[in-house]
Amino acid sequence: MSTVDNPEKVVIFGTGPAGLTAAIYCARADMEPLVYEGLQPGGQLTITTDVDNYPGFPDGVMGPELMEMFKGQATRFGTRFSFEAVESVDLDSWPYHYKAGGEEGWAQTIIIASGASAKYLGLENEIRLQGFGVSACATCDGFFYKDQVVAVVGGGDSAAEEATFLTKFASKVYLLVRRGEMRASKIMQHRVENNEKVEVLWNTEVLDVLGEDAVTGIRIVNNKTNEEQDLELTGFFLAIGHTPNSSAFTKWLETDETGYIITQADSTATDFPGVFACGDVQDHVYRQAITAAGSGCMSALEAERWLEEKQHS
Ligand code: NDP
Repeated sequence: MSTVDNPEKVVIFGTGPAGLTAAIYCARADMEPLVYEGLQPGGQLTITTDVDNYPGFPDGVMGPELMEMFKGQATRFGTRFSFEAVESVDLDSWPYHYKAGGEEGWAQTIIIASGASAKYLGLENEIRLQGFGVSACATCDGFFYKDQVVAVVGGGDSAAEEATFLTKFASKVYLLVRRGEMRASKIMQHRVENNEKVEVLWNTEVLDVLGEDAVTGIRIVNNKTNEEQDLELTGFFLAIGHTPNSSAFTKWLETDETGYIITQADSTATDFPGVFACGDVQDHVYRQAITAAGSGCMSALEAERWLEEKQHS
């Protein structure tokens, strides 16, 4: 266990592609990383099935299997893991203090890779059928819906973009908007409206996701007329936003108005020396496993350099 006089060289919060890539690089740089797995070990890929867009896997790979491989690679170089999730950090003095579950410790550098969580409607069957027709990532899973009917929930830029993206594969895309207008930018809305494969259903809410082992349809209601209807479809995509898992850090680190940690330009450095943020907790634009892994690598290299400079200063 670390102490204030014997702090860890680096502590990493999160075990998605960002955190585990940071761990691989830190471990290979002899930084002996200690990684806290967090509330969803393996991150968002553990709730997807096939991953076809991660380079190096020409036949695709299952999301949970890919994350096991990441973890195995980090372990091979001596990464240590704790099952706990970070609760708080104290960046008032260096080395930095943190609490995670029942543990506490001190660290010279911190890499925050706690990710973001897609928002779900909270319906029981929606949660049960995650990975079996229910997805919160059209870019990841759209390809599996060739010539099938799908629906996207949401009225923002993500929903508009994902609905448009899905028309590359699906025969028809319902876009379910809970109000009479969309919040998406005009240009994105026009793209949706001009796409003959998209049918926008206004004032529409989802009551249930239907299907035993896989999605076969959804039950919707028009919240103006109270008219209920079942739609037959095989893909149900959520695009109602993501929540960055940054609450343990917001007391100290600057975030945008939606809670994403702000990092310096072309860097993963935060405003606190030796504290870095990578992956989805600081990226609401790309949100891909490969970009998260890339920024995890950046954090590790930056943490290593920062420690070296600190030792020589
Ligand atoms: P937003 O928060 O912008 O939009 C969320 C949408 O989901 C809203 O339309 C909201 O409805 C709807 N919604 C929320 N909860 C529910 C619910 N329970 N049931 C039904 N609908 C619900 O999130 P986005 O992910 O779309 O965008 C996040 C940020 O990323 C934005 O700043 C956006 O501009 C940006 N972005 C930019 C892109 C681009 O420029 N290419 C692409 C994607 C995102 P309501 O409007 O009624 O609140």
